[in-house]
Amino acid sequence: MVGTGYVGLVSGACFADFGHEVWCVDINADRIARLERGEIPFYEPGLDILVEKNHGNGRLHFTTDLATGVAPAEVVMIAVQTPPMENGEADMQYVMKVGQDVARLLEPGEYKVICTKSTVPVGTARELTKMIDSTAKEGVDYDVASNPEFLREGSSIEDFMRPDRVVIGTKTERAAELMQSLYRPLYLLDTPIVSTDLETSELIKYASNAYLAVKISYINEMADLCEKLGARVDVLAKAMGLDGRIGKKFLHAGLGFGGSCLPKDTKAIVQMGRANETPLRLIEGAMGVNDERAPRAVEKLEALAGSLHGKRVALLGLAFKPNTDDVREAPSLGLVAALRERGAHVVACDPEAVETFLMHVPDLEIADGPYACIEGADAALLVTEWNPYRELDMERIRDAMKAPVFIDCRNVYPRDRMESLGFAYDSFGR
Ligand code: NAD
Repeated sequence: MVGTGYVGLVSGACFADFGHEVWCVDINADRIARLERGEIPFYEPGLDILVEKNHGNGRLHFTTDLATGVAPAEVVMIAVQTPPMENGEADMQYVMKVGQDVARLLEPGEYKVICTKSTVPVGTARELTKMIDSTAKEGVDYDVASNPEFLREGSSIEDFMRPDRVVIGTKTERAAELMQSLYRPLYLLDTPIVSTDLETSELIKYASNAYLAVKISYINEMADLCEKLGARVDVLAKAMGLDGRIGKKFLHAGLGFGGSCLPKDTKAIVQMGRANETPLRLIEGAMGVNDERAPRAVEKLEALAGSLHGKRVALLGLAFKPNTDDVREAPSLGLVAALRERGAHVVACDPEAVETFLMHVPDLEIADGPYACIEGADAALLVTEWNPYRELDMERIRDAMKAPVFIDCRNVYPRDRMESLGFAYDSFGR
Protein backbone atom coordinates (compact mmCIF):
# COMPACT_ATOMS: atom_id res chain seq x y z
CA MET A 1 0.00 0.00 0.00
CA VAL A 2 1.84 3.09 -1.20
CA GLY A 3 0.70 6.18 0.69
CA THR A 4 -0.46 6.06 4.31
CA GLY A 5 -3.04 8.85 4.28
CA TYR A 6 -6.69 8.35 5.18
CA VAL A 7 -7.20 5.86 2.36
CA GLY A 8 -3.86 4.02 2.38
CA LEU A 9 -3.62 3.52 6.12
CA VAL A 10 -7.25 2.51 6.61
CA SER A 11 -7.16 0.17 3.60
CA GLY A 12 -3.82 -1.28 4.68
CA ALA A 13 -5.00 -1.93 8.23
CA CYS A 14 -8.29 -3.42 7.02
CA PHE A 15 -6.61 -5.71 4.45
CA ALA A 16 -4.27 -6.87 7.23
CA ASP A 17 -7.33 -7.53 9.37
CA PHE A 18 -8.77 -9.62 6.50
CA GLY A 19 -5.71 -11.83 6.96
CA HIS A 20 -3.39 -10.49 4.24
CA GLU A 21 0.17 -9.40 4.88
CA VAL A 22 0.48 -5.69 4.17
CA TRP A 23 3.41 -3.34 3.82
CA CYS A 24 2.42 0.32 4.15
CA VAL A 25 4.93 2.58 2.42
CA ASP A 26 5.21 6.36 2.71
CA ILE A 27 7.86 8.91 1.75
CA ASN A 28 6.95 10.87 4.88
CA ALA A 29 9.55 9.47 7.30
CA ASP A 30 8.01 11.21 10.30
CA ARG A 31 4.65 9.59 9.54
CA ILE A 32 6.21 6.12 9.28
CA ALA A 33 8.19 6.62 12.50
CA ARG A 34 5.00 7.63 14.30
CA LEU A 35 3.15 4.62 12.93
CA GLU A 36 5.96 2.36 14.13
CA ARG A 37 5.43 3.83 17.60
CA GLY A 38 1.70 3.13 17.34
CA GLU A 39 0.70 6.77 16.80
CA ILE A 40 -1.98 7.47 14.17
CA PRO A 41 -1.08 10.61 12.18
CA PHE A 42 -4.69 11.82 11.87
CA TYR A 43 -7.98 11.39 13.68
CA GLU A 44 -10.07 8.43 12.56
CA PRO A 45 -12.26 6.57 15.09
CA GLY A 46 -11.11 2.99 15.78
CA LEU A 47 -8.04 3.13 13.55
CA ASP A 48 -5.56 3.08 16.46
CA ILE A 49 -6.94 -0.22 17.72
CA LEU A 50 -6.96 -1.83 14.28
CA VAL A 51 -3.40 -0.69 13.50
CA GLU A 52 -2.10 -1.79 16.90
CA LYS A 53 -3.73 -5.21 16.57
CA ASN A 54 -2.42 -5.96 13.09
CA HIS A 55 1.00 -4.40 13.63
CA GLY A 56 1.24 -6.49 16.78
CA ASN A 57 0.27 -9.76 15.07
CA GLY A 58 2.87 -9.18 12.35
CA ARG A 59 0.54 -8.69 9.38
CA LEU A 60 0.91 -4.91 9.07
CA HIS A 61 4.36 -3.39 8.45
CA PHE A 62 5.54 0.16 7.85
CA THR A 63 8.47 1.37 5.79
CA THR A 64 9.78 4.34 3.84
CA ASP A 65 11.54 2.00 1.44
CA LEU A 66 9.37 1.20 -1.56
CA ALA A 67 11.50 -1.80 -2.56
CA THR A 68 10.91 -3.44 0.82
CA GLY A 69 7.17 -3.19 0.33
CA VAL A 70 7.06 -4.06 -3.36
CA ALA A 71 9.39 -7.10 -3.35
CA PRO A 72 7.07 -9.54 -1.54
CA ALA A 73 3.83 -8.05 -2.89
CA GLU A 74 1.42 -9.70 -5.30
CA VAL A 75 -0.62 -6.50 -5.48
CA VAL A 76 0.82 -2.98 -5.23
CA MET A 77 -1.83 -0.41 -4.42
CA ILE A 78 -1.28 3.26 -5.10
CA ALA A 79 -3.11 5.37 -2.50
CA VAL A 80 -1.32 8.72 -2.76
CA GLN A 81 -2.97 12.12 -3.07
CA THR A 82 -4.51 13.44 -6.31
CA PRO A 83 -5.13 17.11 -5.45
CA PRO A 84 -6.82 19.52 -7.85
CA MET A 85 -4.69 21.72 -10.09
CA GLU A 86 -5.57 25.33 -10.91
CA ASN A 87 -7.86 24.25 -13.79
CA GLY A 88 -9.67 21.62 -11.69
CA GLU A 89 -7.93 18.61 -13.24
CA ALA A 90 -6.50 16.05 -10.81
CA ASP A 91 -2.76 16.46 -10.33
CA MET A 92 -1.38 13.07 -11.29
CA GLN A 93 2.29 13.68 -10.54
CA TYR A 94 2.25 11.69 -7.26
CA VAL A 95 0.48 8.66 -8.74
CA MET A 96 2.72 8.63 -11.83
CA LYS A 97 5.86 8.98 -9.71
CA VAL A 98 4.86 5.91 -7.67
CA GLY A 99 4.03 4.05 -10.89
CA GLN A 100 7.46 4.84 -12.29
CA ASP A 101 9.29 3.89 -9.10
CA VAL A 102 7.35 0.61 -8.87
CA ALA A 103 8.07 -0.13 -12.56
CA ARG A 104 11.80 0.01 -11.87
CA LEU A 105 11.37 -2.57 -9.11
CA LEU A 106 9.52 -5.16 -11.22
CA GLU A 107 11.52 -8.31 -11.90
CA PRO A 108 10.95 -10.75 -14.79
CA GLY A 109 9.47 -14.05 -13.68
CA GLU A 110 7.18 -12.54 -11.02
CA TYR A 111 3.61 -11.48 -11.68
CA LYS A 112 2.23 -8.41 -9.91
CA VAL A 113 -0.89 -6.29 -10.19
CA ILE A 114 -0.35 -2.55 -9.90
CA CYS A 115 -3.58 -1.00 -8.84
CA THR A 116 -4.83 2.55 -8.29
CA LYS A 117 -6.81 3.06 -5.09
CA SER A 118 -6.47 6.82 -5.35
CA THR A 119 -9.26 8.59 -7.23
CA VAL A 120 -7.77 8.98 -10.70
CA PRO A 121 -9.09 10.37 -14.00
CA VAL A 122 -10.31 8.01 -16.67
CA GLY A 123 -7.35 6.93 -18.77
CA THR A 124 -4.91 6.75 -15.85
CA ALA A 125 -4.59 2.95 -16.03
CA ARG A 126 -3.78 3.28 -19.73
CA GLU A 127 -1.18 5.99 -18.99
CA LEU A 128 0.33 3.93 -16.19
CA THR A 129 0.61 0.92 -18.50
CA LYS A 130 2.44 3.00 -21.13
CA MET A 131 4.76 4.42 -18.51
CA ILE A 132 5.53 1.06 -16.91
CA ASP A 133 6.16 -0.52 -20.32
CA SER A 134 8.67 2.20 -21.12
CA THR A 135 10.40 2.06 -17.70
CA ALA A 136 10.41 -1.57 -16.55
CA LYS A 137 12.93 -4.25 -17.46
CA GLU A 138 12.31 -6.46 -20.52
CA GLY A 139 10.00 -9.40 -19.87
CA VAL A 140 8.27 -8.27 -16.69
CA ASP A 141 4.81 -9.72 -16.11
CA TYR A 142 2.23 -7.38 -14.67
CA ASP A 143 -1.29 -6.00 -15.03
CA VAL A 144 -2.70 -2.65 -14.10
CA ALA A 145 -5.99 -2.53 -12.18
CA SER A 146 -8.36 0.07 -10.80
CA ASN A 147 -9.97 -0.35 -7.38
CA PRO A 148 -11.49 2.99 -6.35
CA GLU A 149 -12.13 3.55 -2.67
CA PHE A 150 -15.49 4.77 -1.36
CA LEU A 151 -14.77 5.01 2.38
CA ARG A 152 -15.87 8.11 4.25
CA GLU A 153 -13.61 9.79 6.77
CA GLY A 154 -15.06 9.40 10.25
CA SER A 155 -16.56 5.98 9.51
CA SER A 156 -13.91 4.61 7.22
CA ILE A 157 -13.27 1.30 8.95
CA GLU A 158 -16.93 0.32 8.93
CA ASP A 159 -17.16 1.52 5.30
CA PHE A 160 -14.17 -0.59 4.31
CA MET A 161 -15.27 -3.67 6.23
CA ARG A 162 -18.92 -3.47 5.15
CA PRO A 163 -18.96 -1.62 1.84
CA ASP A 164 -22.07 -1.19 -0.30
CA ARG A 165 -19.98 -2.52 -3.20
CA VAL A 166 -16.43 -3.15 -4.31
CA VAL A 167 -15.45 -1.95 -7.77
CA ILE A 168 -12.63 -3.67 -9.62
CA GLY A 169 -11.45 -2.66 -13.08
CA THR A 170 -9.07 -4.92 -14.96
CA LYS A 171 -8.09 -5.92 -18.47
CA THR A 172 -7.30 -9.58 -17.79
CA GLU A 173 -9.08 -12.41 -16.01
CA ARG A 174 -5.90 -13.16 -14.06
CA ALA A 175 -5.79 -9.67 -12.55
CA ALA A 176 -9.54 -9.75 -11.83
CA GLU A 177 -9.20 -13.02 -9.94
CA LEU A 178 -6.26 -11.81 -7.87
CA MET A 179 -8.00 -8.53 -7.04
CA GLN A 180 -11.21 -10.33 -6.10
CA SER A 181 -9.29 -12.67 -3.81
CA LEU A 182 -8.22 -9.65 -1.72
CA TYR A 183 -11.84 -9.07 -0.82
CA ARG A 184 -12.75 -12.72 -0.18
CA PRO A 185 -13.81 -12.09 3.49
CA LEU A 186 -16.55 -9.80 2.14
CA TYR A 187 -18.13 -12.66 0.19
CA LEU A 188 -19.59 -13.86 3.50
CA LEU A 189 -21.48 -10.59 3.72
CA ASP A 190 -22.68 -10.95 0.12
CA THR A 191 -20.99 -7.67 -0.78
CA PRO A 192 -21.60 -6.98 -4.47
CA ILE A 193 -18.34 -6.97 -6.41
CA VAL A 194 -18.61 -5.01 -9.65
CA SER A 195 -15.94 -6.29 -12.00
CA THR A 196 -15.54 -4.19 -15.09
CA ASP A 197 -13.08 -2.63 -17.51
CA LEU A 198 -10.51 -0.06 -16.39
CA GLU A 199 -12.24 3.03 -17.78
CA THR A 200 -15.65 2.25 -16.30
CA SER A 201 -14.10 1.51 -12.92
CA GLU A 202 -12.24 4.83 -12.90
CA LEU A 203 -15.38 6.73 -13.90
CA ILE A 204 -17.64 5.02 -11.32
CA LYS A 205 -15.83 6.81 -8.48
CA TYR A 206 -16.19 10.28 -9.99
CA ALA A 207 -19.76 9.70 -11.12
CA SER A 208 -20.74 8.53 -7.62
CA ASN A 209 -19.15 11.47 -5.81
CA ALA A 210 -20.54 13.98 -8.30
CA TYR A 211 -24.00 12.50 -7.80
CA LEU A 212 -23.72 12.98 -4.03
CA ALA A 213 -22.61 16.58 -4.59
CA VAL A 214 -25.63 17.19 -6.82
CA LYS A 215 -27.89 15.73 -4.13
CA ILE A 216 -26.48 18.08 -1.48
CA SER A 217 -26.78 21.13 -3.70
CA TYR A 218 -30.29 20.07 -4.65
CA ILE A 219 -31.48 20.09 -1.04
CA ASN A 220 -29.66 23.37 -0.41
CA GLU A 221 -31.55 25.01 -3.26
CA MET A 222 -34.75 23.55 -1.84
CA ALA A 223 -33.79 25.09 1.52
CA ASP A 224 -33.54 28.51 -0.10
CA LEU A 225 -36.93 27.99 -1.76
CA CYS A 226 -38.44 26.81 1.55
CA GLU A 227 -37.35 30.05 3.18
CA LYS A 228 -39.17 32.06 0.52
CA LEU A 229 -42.31 29.92 0.63
CA GLY A 230 -42.56 29.39 4.38
CA ALA A 231 -41.94 25.62 4.09
CA ARG A 232 -39.57 23.42 6.15
CA VAL A 233 -36.66 21.77 4.41
CA ASP A 234 -36.03 19.20 7.15
CA VAL A 235 -39.55 17.80 6.82
CA LEU A 236 -39.33 18.07 3.04
CA ALA A 237 -36.04 16.13 3.02
CA LYS A 238 -37.43 13.47 5.33
CA ALA A 239 -40.48 12.92 3.15
CA MET A 240 -38.40 12.90 -0.02
CA GLY A 241 -35.90 10.51 1.53
CA LEU A 242 -38.61 8.02 2.45
CA ASP A 243 -39.07 7.46 -1.26
CA GLY A 244 -36.87 4.44 -1.95
CA ARG A 245 -35.95 5.86 -5.35
CA ILE A 246 -34.44 8.94 -3.67
CA GLY A 247 -33.03 7.69 -0.35
CA LYS A 248 -32.54 9.74 2.78
CA LYS A 249 -28.76 10.21 2.80
CA PHE A 250 -27.06 13.42 1.65
CA LEU A 251 -30.28 15.40 1.98
CA HIS A 252 -29.18 17.71 4.81
CA ALA A 253 -29.40 21.38 4.03
CA GLY A 254 -26.72 23.65 5.40
CA LEU A 255 -23.24 24.80 4.52
CA GLY A 256 -22.83 22.46 1.58
CA PHE A 257 -20.15 19.94 0.75
CA GLY A 258 -16.47 20.22 1.59
CA GLY A 259 -13.62 17.90 2.43
CA SER A 260 -10.94 16.28 0.39
CA CYS A 261 -13.21 14.45 -2.06
CA LEU A 262 -16.46 16.03 -3.29
CA PRO A 263 -15.07 19.48 -4.20
CA LYS A 264 -12.01 17.97 -5.89
CA ASP A 265 -13.83 15.16 -7.67
CA THR A 266 -16.61 17.40 -9.02
CA LYS A 267 -13.99 19.75 -10.47
CA ALA A 268 -12.11 16.85 -12.02
CA ILE A 269 -15.14 15.23 -13.66
CA VAL A 270 -16.27 18.59 -15.03
CA GLN A 271 -12.81 18.97 -16.55
CA MET A 272 -13.07 15.47 -18.05
CA GLY A 273 -16.41 16.46 -19.55
CA ARG A 274 -14.99 19.66 -21.03
CA ALA A 275 -11.94 17.92 -22.42
CA ASN A 276 -14.23 15.43 -24.13
CA GLU A 277 -16.76 17.98 -25.42
CA THR A 278 -19.45 16.68 -23.07
CA PRO A 279 -20.34 19.53 -20.73
CA LEU A 280 -21.62 18.26 -17.38
CA ARG A 281 -24.08 21.05 -16.69
CA LEU A 282 -25.81 19.47 -13.73
CA ILE A 283 -22.53 18.99 -11.84
CA GLU A 284 -21.30 22.47 -12.76
CA GLY A 285 -24.58 23.84 -11.41
CA ALA A 286 -24.14 21.91 -8.16
CA MET A 287 -20.66 23.39 -7.73
CA GLY A 288 -22.00 26.91 -8.25
CA VAL A 289 -24.75 26.35 -5.67
CA ASN A 290 -22.18 25.02 -3.22
CA ASP A 291 -19.95 28.07 -3.59
CA GLU A 292 -22.82 30.23 -2.35
CA ARG A 293 -23.42 28.38 0.91
CA ALA A 294 -20.82 29.99 3.18
CA PRO A 295 -21.67 33.50 1.88
CA ARG A 296 -25.35 32.74 2.63
CA ALA A 297 -24.43 31.96 6.24
CA VAL A 298 -22.60 35.29 6.51
CA GLU A 299 -25.62 37.10 5.02
CA LYS A 300 -27.85 35.47 7.61
CA LEU A 301 -25.48 36.54 10.34
CA GLU A 302 -25.41 40.14 9.14
CA ALA A 303 -29.20 40.18 8.94
CA LEU A 304 -29.37 39.38 12.67
CA ALA A 305 -26.22 40.99 14.04
CA GLY A 306 -25.85 44.04 11.77
CA SER A 307 -22.38 45.14 10.75
CA LEU A 308 -19.74 42.62 11.79
CA HIS A 309 -17.01 45.22 12.06
CA GLY A 310 -15.26 44.87 15.42
CA LYS A 311 -17.59 42.06 16.50
CA ARG A 312 -16.43 38.86 18.15
CA VAL A 313 -17.80 35.88 16.23
CA ALA A 314 -17.53 32.33 17.58
CA LEU A 315 -17.32 29.32 15.26
CA LEU A 316 -18.38 26.03 16.83
CA GLY A 317 -16.56 23.47 14.70
CA LEU A 318 -13.92 23.66 11.98
CA ALA A 319 -13.80 20.15 10.47
CA PHE A 320 -15.76 19.76 7.23
CA LYS A 321 -17.91 17.16 9.00
CA PRO A 322 -17.94 15.46 12.41
CA ASN A 323 -15.53 12.66 13.36
CA THR A 324 -12.60 13.85 11.28
CA ASP A 325 -9.77 16.35 11.68
CA ASP A 326 -9.74 16.99 7.93
CA VAL A 327 -10.30 20.63 6.97
CA ARG A 328 -9.41 20.39 3.28
CA GLU A 329 -11.94 22.61 1.45
CA ALA A 330 -13.97 22.85 4.66
CA PRO A 331 -16.68 25.55 4.66
CA SER A 332 -15.04 26.92 7.82
CA LEU A 333 -12.10 28.18 5.73
CA GLY A 334 -14.40 30.34 3.59
CA LEU A 335 -16.34 31.47 6.65
CA VAL A 336 -13.26 32.64 8.54
CA ALA A 337 -12.02 34.55 5.48
CA ALA A 338 -15.41 36.18 4.83
CA LEU A 339 -15.91 37.15 8.48
CA ARG A 340 -12.44 38.64 8.74
CA GLU A 341 -12.97 40.57 5.50
CA ARG A 342 -15.91 42.24 7.22
CA GLY A 343 -13.77 43.21 10.18
CA ALA A 344 -15.00 40.54 12.60
CA HIS A 345 -12.72 38.94 15.18
CA VAL A 346 -13.13 35.18 14.83
CA VAL A 347 -12.63 32.68 17.64
CA ALA A 348 -13.17 28.96 17.08
CA CYS A 349 -13.16 25.53 18.68
CA ASP A 350 -13.23 21.98 17.42
CA PRO A 351 -12.76 18.66 19.25
CA GLU A 352 -10.19 17.34 16.73
CA ALA A 353 -9.49 19.70 13.84
CA VAL A 354 -7.75 22.63 15.54
CA GLU A 355 -4.24 21.50 14.69
CA THR A 356 -5.01 20.88 11.01
CA PHE A 357 -6.93 24.16 10.73
CA LEU A 358 -4.05 26.16 12.18
CA MET A 359 -1.87 24.84 9.35
CA HIS A 360 -4.12 26.82 7.00
CA VAL A 361 -4.88 29.83 9.24
CA PRO A 362 -2.11 30.00 11.86
CA ASP A 363 -3.30 33.21 13.54
CA LEU A 364 -6.84 32.09 14.36
CA GLU A 365 -7.82 32.46 18.02
CA ILE A 366 -8.72 29.05 19.43
CA ALA A 367 -10.87 28.46 22.48
CA ASP A 368 -10.86 25.39 24.65
CA GLY A 369 -14.34 24.05 23.98
CA PRO A 370 -17.69 25.57 23.01
CA TYR A 371 -18.43 27.40 26.26
CA ALA A 372 -15.08 29.18 26.30
CA CYS A 373 -15.56 29.93 22.61
CA ILE A 374 -18.84 31.81 22.96
CA GLU A 375 -17.76 33.73 26.12
CA GLY A 376 -18.37 37.41 25.37
CA ALA A 377 -19.17 36.72 21.69
CA ASP A 378 -21.48 38.96 19.68
CA ALA A 379 -22.59 36.00 17.59
CA ALA A 380 -22.02 32.27 17.17
CA LEU A 381 -22.24 29.92 14.22
CA LEU A 382 -22.64 26.17 14.57
CA VAL A 383 -20.37 24.98 11.75
CA THR A 384 -19.75 21.27 12.45
CA GLU A 385 -22.40 19.11 14.09
CA TRP A 386 -20.06 17.14 16.38
CA ASN A 387 -22.10 15.16 18.94
CA PRO A 388 -21.03 17.35 21.89
CA TYR A 389 -22.18 20.42 19.93
CA ARG A 390 -25.63 18.92 19.39
CA GLU A 391 -26.52 18.99 23.07
CA LEU A 392 -25.23 22.34 24.26
CA ASP A 393 -26.70 23.99 27.33
CA MET A 394 -28.29 26.86 25.46
CA GLU A 395 -29.20 28.84 28.55
CA ARG A 396 -25.57 28.82 29.59
CA ILE A 397 -24.56 29.82 26.05
CA ARG A 398 -27.09 32.67 25.99
CA ASP A 399 -25.95 34.01 29.35
CA ALA A 400 -22.26 33.90 28.45
CA MET A 401 -22.61 35.62 25.07
CA LYS A 402 -22.50 39.36 24.75
CA ALA A 403 -25.43 39.15 22.35
CA PRO A 404 -27.38 35.92 21.80
CA VAL A 405 -27.17 35.69 18.01
CA PHE A 406 -26.95 32.10 16.78
CA ILE A 407 -26.69 30.85 13.20
CA ASP A 408 -27.28 27.13 13.15
CA CYS A 409 -25.58 26.15 9.90
CA ARG A 410 -26.43 22.48 10.42
CA ASN A 411 -30.12 22.74 11.39
CA VAL A 412 -29.52 21.03 14.74
CA TYR A 413 -31.55 23.12 17.23
CA PRO A 414 -35.32 23.70 17.14
CA ARG A 415 -36.09 27.27 16.13
CA ASP A 416 -39.04 27.57 18.57
CA ARG A 417 -36.90 26.63 21.53
CA MET A 418 -34.03 28.90 20.54
CA GLU A 419 -36.37 31.84 20.07
CA SER A 420 -38.18 31.20 23.31
CA LEU A 421 -34.80 31.29 25.06
CA GLY A 422 -34.28 34.75 23.62
CA PHE A 423 -31.86 33.97 20.82
CA ALA A 424 -31.86 35.83 17.54
CA TYR A 425 -31.69 32.58 15.61
CA ASP A 426 -31.51 31.43 12.03
CA SER A 427 -30.83 28.16 10.23
CA PHE A 428 -31.21 26.93 6.64
CA GLY A 429 -34.62 26.38 5.11
CA ARG A 430 -36.59 26.21 8.34
P1 NAD B 1 -3.55 11.92 1.96
O1 NAD B 1 -3.07 13.20 1.43
O2 NAD B 1 -4.17 11.83 3.31
O3 NAD B 1 -2.37 10.84 1.93
C1 NAD B 1 -1.50 10.65 0.87
C2 NAD B 1 -0.22 10.00 1.41
O4 NAD B 1 0.59 9.60 0.30
C3 NAD B 1 0.64 10.95 2.26
O5 NAD B 1 0.95 10.35 3.48
C4 NAD B 1 1.90 11.15 1.39
O6 NAD B 1 3.07 11.36 2.13
C5 NAD B 1 1.95 9.83 0.63
N1 NAD B 1 2.77 9.87 -0.57
C6 NAD B 1 2.84 10.81 -1.54
N2 NAD B 1 3.73 10.46 -2.48
C7 NAD B 1 4.25 9.26 -2.12
C8 NAD B 1 5.23 8.40 -2.67
N3 NAD B 1 5.84 8.68 -3.81
N4 NAD B 1 5.51 7.26 -2.00
C9 NAD B 1 4.90 6.96 -0.85
N5 NAD B 1 3.97 7.73 -0.27
C10 NAD B 1 3.64 8.89 -0.90
O7 NAD B 1 -4.59 11.37 0.87
P2 NAD B 1 -5.98 10.58 1.10
O8 NAD B 1 -7.01 11.48 1.67
O9 NAD B 1 -5.68 9.28 1.73
O10 NAD B 1 -6.39 10.32 -0.42
C11 NAD B 1 -5.66 9.47 -1.27
C12 NAD B 1 -6.46 9.23 -2.54
O11 NAD B 1 -7.68 8.53 -2.21
C13 NAD B 1 -6.91 10.48 -3.25
O12 NAD B 1 -6.91 10.23 -4.64
C14 NAD B 1 -8.33 10.69 -2.77
O13 NAD B 1 -9.12 11.37 -3.70
C15 NAD B 1 -8.82 9.26 -2.66
N6 NAD B 1 -9.90 9.07 -1.69
C16 NAD B 1 -9.89 9.75 -0.51
C17 NAD B 1 -10.90 9.53 0.42
C18 NAD B 1 -10.91 10.29 1.73
O14 NAD B 1 -11.93 10.27 2.39
N7 NAD B 1 -9.83 10.91 2.14
C19 NAD B 1 -11.92 8.62 0.14
C20 NAD B 1 -11.90 7.92 -1.06
C21 NAD B 1 -10.87 8.16 -1.97
